[in-house]
Amino acid sequence: MESIYYVMAWACHRKCKHCYEDRFRPYVRGALEAVVAEAEANYPRIIANLPERLTYFDRDDPNPDGTLPLKPGRIILSGGEALLDAVRERVTYRVIDALQEKYRGQGVKIVVQTTGDILTEAIVAELMARGVWMISVASIDDFHVGLEGAAKQQAFMDGLSAMFARHGMHRSGVSSTHRKWFEEEGPLYSFFGAQPDSWIGKLWPRGRAWQNGLSGATLDDNFCARWSGGLNFLDHRHSGSEVSIEPDGAVYPCCIKTKLPIGNLTEEKLLDILDSLAGDPIYEAINAGQPQRMGLSQGWSVETFVERSHTTDPKGRPYANLCIGCDRFHEEVLAPRIAAARERRMRARDKAPQAVEFLT
Ligand code: SF4
Ligand code: SF4
Repeated sequence: MESIYYVMAWACHRKCKHCYEDRFRPYVRGALEAVVAEAEANYPRIIANLPERLTYFDRDDPNPDGTLPLKPGRIILSGGEALLDAVRERVTYRVIDALQEKYRGQGVKIVVQTTGDILTEAIVAELMARGVWMISVASIDDFHVGLEGAAKQQAFMDGLSAMFARHGMHRSGVSSTHRKWFEEEGPLYSFFGAQPDSWIGKLWPRGRAWQNGLSGATLDDNFCARWSGGLNFLDHRHSGSEVSIEPDGAVYPCCIKTKLPIGNLTEEKLLDILDSLAGDPIYEAINAGQPQRMGLSQGWSVETFVERSHTTDPKGRPYANLCIGCDRFHEEVLAPRIAAARERRMRARDKAPQAVEFLT
């Protein structure tokens, strides 16, 4: 598997109006304890159910003899804000340590994604001591209060860049939308945000971006075939394979997140979940980055899917995007299929130990 995007905890100190997830927001007292405790309770089982080897064959970089090179994968640790006081020691550092232990010797690259707001010399030093390969600052856009406009953003980046340099880090040399940035030597830092020309600039029809009528995407914006979309999620042996994970262990084929998860890592292994869906025409359509074809086997023609992709957003604007059709299809058709696939996996899992007992 090339990449895993792991949202460890919901807590964030901000409540940005463009955020793709309502649950990324400030929590206090008991509510904060609940989201941190959820993350703390689930990460051991989530990590245990990640693949034993996190490597992939890179189709984009064949050897002269035509074989594909085997490369180390990466895990992007995110929130919310993964470095908040309440989350950092109890969750983020422990997750990093557990991943380093699990993937020792494999060269797996750990990225910590942050707003950059609360980074200090001490936190950067602690992340470096834990072998973090990259700190990725994801707040460089006009939506983050206090960072409106190029001048403020530049000043913010300059201050952080100087601090990163003091810790021996260097800036990633290529755009964060380009996969090859993951082949640079660490430790690195990078900056990105929901800039209008970035791959997330149109904003996904999700969370507060959706509620606030901020998604500018159209039917021509196929998020599924882009970075963070569903493209290649099933093909876990090769480049382009990526899934996203939520704090409760739910797994999705894309960071946008389908209406229903494909499984849960607190109870099943990631590769078992993916392999159980291989060959299913619905998931193969997502895997091909063609969500408009996901319903062909279920009586939803491409025309039907596109028709169902039209809606009105919460601000009353007419809106159309394939992720909306995907939502409708999940609600109306897919829920029972996902439950059946899970049931099959559970039966297979329950049978396996009995067979071993019988043989011994
Ligand atoms: S966009 Fe980032 S900083 Fe803003 S609320 Fe969402 S997770 Fe927090
Ligand atoms: S169409 Fe569905 S699977 Fe594809 S990116 Fe959108 S929500 Fe994810």
